[in-house]
Amino acid sequence: MLLQPLNEPVADRAGVRLLLLRDDLTHPELPGNKWRKLKYNLQEARRLGHHTLLTFGGAYSNHLAAVAAAGRLTGLRTIGIVRGQELSQQPLNPTLAQARADGMELQFIDRATYRRKHEPDVLGQLLTTLGPAYVIPEGGSNLLALPGCAELVQELEAAIDFDYLCVACGTGGTLAGLLTGLRGQREALGFAALKGADFLRHDINQLTQQATGTTYTNWSLQTDYHGGGYARLSPELLQFVQAFEQRHQVVLDPIYTSKMLVGILDMLESGYFRRGSTVVAVHTGGLQAWAGFQERVAL
Ligand SMILES: *Cc1c(COP(=O)(O)O)cnc(C)c1O
Repeated sequence: MLLQPLNEPVADRAGVRLLLLRDDLTHPELPGNKWRKLKYNLQEARRLGHHTLLTFGGAYSNHLAAVAAAGRLTGLRTIGIVRGQELSQQPLNPTLAQARADGMELQFIDRATYRRKHEPDVLGQLLTTLGPAYVIPEGGSNLLALPGCAELVQELEAAIDFDYLCVACGTGGTLAGLLTGLRGQREALGFAALKGADFLRHDINQLTQQATGTTYTNWSLQTDYHGGGYARLSPELLQFVQAFEQRHQVVLDPIYTSKMLVGILDMLESGYFRRGSTVVAVHTGGLQAWAGFQERVAL
């Protein structure tokens, strides 16, 4: 586990030690939280005797990319149900091209059906057409995603003493898993990458409640740092990522970790974190998303 100190003047002024947990480096081909969330799902798929993984995602999904890579590494067949029928008429973007190169079969469905993907009739139809499969929800956030994320906390606790653990949130599954592993007075902060993410508090509570029977109170969801919405890369955010890379020789991803770091630095400025405390921010990976941005905006 690599914990990289981030020397930021704003952290010095606040008297806070800021560390970046480089979970983007933990697995060479399945970086970051998507691997953590898949680990026990892959075991369960095997235990149940499945030969196929079926999952869902948007065209730039880090989760689809991770499942495709997992399929290549484990020999399981993978099927990706992609949001947007129209995409089947277009050349594949870099994320989907890589997924297909990793052996994933891509099925494009219209957005209305996609919204109903977890309903029994839609899912049943997919499984009838495509064959039996172990189904992993969009983003990979189910109950079995939690223990893999809890392991990150155990590894971290074995390495250092810390007070705050920060992570970016899409579905909130990673944060839920971290909470189930967090002990003592430690506090977790989630930074929502999408706009209007208040519903995530409920989703996170539901996941932890189902997993452990506990409703945790040692956490918060920060919803002000979505930067305009999911997958919106403003010129300011791009500039932040470039300046951050210059200062720390670390590339953040455009959708999640960049916004989390903007949020952490802002909250350091406003005095949120206790003087003398240690804040750990998790770099959850997601760098494959840059290929899609390079395609959409000239970087
Ligand atoms: C998917 C993802 C997240 C969000 O994880 P959730 O469990 O959906 O909240 C954070 N960071 C990166 C890099 C991701 O790919």
